[in-house]
Amino acid sequence: MFMLVDCNNFYVSCERVFNPKLQDRPVIVLSNNDGCVIARSNQAKKLGIAMGIPYFKVAKFCQAKKVAVFSSNYMLYGDMSRRVMDILQSEIEHVEIYSIDEAFLYFSSKNIADLITQAKRLRQKILQWTGLPTSIGLGPTKTLAKVANNVAKKEIKEGVLALSESNEWRPILERLALSDIWGVGPRSMKKLLELGIKTPWALAQAPPSFIRKRFSVTLERTIYELKGTPCFQLDSIQPNKQIMVSRAFRKPITNLQEIIEAGCCYATQAFEKLRQQNFVTPRIQVFLTTHPFSLNAEFSSKIISYIFQMPTQDSRLACKATRICLEKMFKTGESYKKVGIMLTELLDITQQTEDIFTNIDGSEMAKSNALMTVMDHINHKMDKNMVFFAAQGIQRSWQGCQQWRSPCYTTRWEDLMLVY
Ligand SMILES: [Mg+2]
Repeated sequence: MFMLVDCNNFYVSCERVFNPKLQDRPVIVLSNNDGCVIARSNQAKKLGIAMGIPYFKVAKFCQAKKVAVFSSNYMLYGDMSRRVMDILQSEIEHVEIYSIDEAFLYFSSKNIADLITQAKRLRQKILQWTGLPTSIGLGPTKTLAKVANNVAKKEIKEGVLALSESNEWRPILERLALSDIWGVGPRSMKKLLELGIKTPWALAQAPPSFIRKRFSVTLERTIYELKGTPCFQLDSIQPNKQIMVSRAFRKPITNLQEIIEAGCCYATQAFEKLRQQNFVTPRIQVFLTTHPFSLNAEFSSKIISYIFQMPTQDSRLACKATRICLEKMFKTGESYKKVGIMLTELLDITQQTEDIFTNIDGSEMAKSNALMTVMDHINHKMDKNMVFFAAQGIQRSWQGCQQWRSPCYTTRWEDLMLVY
């Protein structure tokens, strides 16, 4: 059996843990730069605030309805997520962390009553240890565990639902929408509706080979999964296939220096992630996008790669490469909206061998790795930006605005809650 553990309204719930006054209030969380609504409490959903809607469109309404508004605080959400996953991994052998707030667990036991008891206990433990409410769905396949979770979240008070027999999931698949099914996107849904396949149950009855021909192997597998035959296994080790860091500027930028500062900030962040996972990379890709709505210029988005002399994880080289790429792409007079860094080739650090055609020797490599380790250590222990490169800039006026960000309660000493 598969179990899907999913935190309810995750970002909102993280805010509520440290601010209990929010418990019964409508709460929303906004995307970077306070642009769009990306998380809503149930009360906010009831008020009709749509997912993804630009905040300025609902700002007045939110004020009138006393909706609590937060900028996204990824330091907090990331740390709370780690706590939840730690609990699961310390208890269960097979865990796949699927997203920031979801994990699939696998059990070889088929004793449903036992598994339900275990699910309830896990749910209670997560609530007690982190303060976060979760919903848990069980099923013989990942797709059915997702279905069970969906129903548990909305309809079951104890937050746990197991679907072990087809007579249990049939009535549910008959009433859910196709879009509620994992792996059915808006495009396939439209096509399925045109073919007269209107419910997940109807999809489960469709001939798999026909679906493979008209759609994809993945959707064919979804059919088997909906019938209770597992096709998707647990990916317990999910290797990160690429690292990307990019953000839109608060307002359009025309100054090369500021763009380089932002680029270097994202490059150092990307390389920090690289080191956390013990990777090196032979190549960095830098992209630069103009403002899509500017009247006087055409929209352009450019990307340039820089190849290092040898695979590296040194942020200093990343900053240097970023500067070179941005200087090449930048055009005076253009106004820019966004800069970003992509690392697409991630190699294990053991693959960082010396190259006979370069003049970098092993001791230099060891020194560079040691320097990065010290830097990460200080930043991890003290504060995220205790030590940084001058290339990243000091004022950083281009940085996004986060007017309503909550404190980093769990990761920053100054933000620690005081109890009198
Ligand atoms: Mg969730």
